[in-house]
Amino acid sequence: MPITFNGMSPVLIVMGGFEGYMTMSFLIFAIWFISSLFVGRAYCAYGCQWGATQELLAYAVPKQLDASKKKKRRKIKYIVFIIWIVFVALGPILTLGYINGFSPFYPTPGDPTGLISWNELNIGQLIFYFGIISSVVLLFGLVGGNRSFCNYACPMGVLGVIGTKIMNLLRYPALHLEADPEKCTQCKECSKACVMGLDVHELVDSGNMYNADCILCGSCVATCNQDTIKYTWKWRNRRS
Ligand code: SF4
Ligand code: SF4
Ligand code: SF4
Repeated sequence: MPITFNGMSPVLIVMGGFEGYMTMSFLIFAIWFISSLFVGRAYCAYGCQWGATQELLAYAVPKQLDASKKKKRRKIKYIVFIIWIVFVALGPILTLGYINGFSPFYPTPGDPTGLISWNELNIGQLIFYFGIISSVVLLFGLVGGNRSFCNYACPMGVLGVIGTKIMNLLRYPALHLEADPEKCTQCKECSKACVMGLDVHELVDSGNMYNADCILCGSCVATCNQDTIKYTWKWRNRRS
């Protein structure tokens, strides 16, 4: 940020759609979704500016995600996603498609960052992004713990949840975690290390590492000193 924020905006994709433009955010979210069919939610771990914002906050103000209430709260993001996707679809439906074509730097053609040509729209955007969205994301982190915005509220993350569920259902070769419960010493360090607040130890115990809330960040892989958990890419036997 700020160079990347126009390209990963849940708002500009909607605004552009209502004006008949296919935006950079549309393209990037489409790539995220397609990538999730093969590498799960790796974009959440390695490619998202809002994920990075939360992780940076966690360095400054360490707070573990509250695992006890997470399951119910996690459903909130699906409601946000449904509202968001309806608005994403509504624009092109009402304008009969992306009639004005692809606009990579929408809403400021010729200005990739949206910062050079200062006009009312850009200033409004800056206030919106840094003043409102960033505050919301940071507030989630401060109140709920690291990655709580990802867990409870992010609609873009749901794209990856859907892709991961398709990947896990069809069981074709794709990036996923695998564990050998026999090697596990029950130390539970993997659960403490999970940035998404998952009970990784329970997943290991069950022999089923497929969880759509896993972002494949690898923290559990790096933490386990028994080499119990590993990344793999092959045909799978079990479903999530
Ligand atoms: S869940 Fe949303 S905010 Fe979190 S990393 Fe994924 S896309 Fe970014
Ligand atoms: S860190 Fe490794 S050994 Fe410890 S509970 Fe997790 S999987 Fe088992
Ligand atoms: S289960 Fe492991 S790879 Fe998945 S989010 Fe948690 S720490 Fe990251």
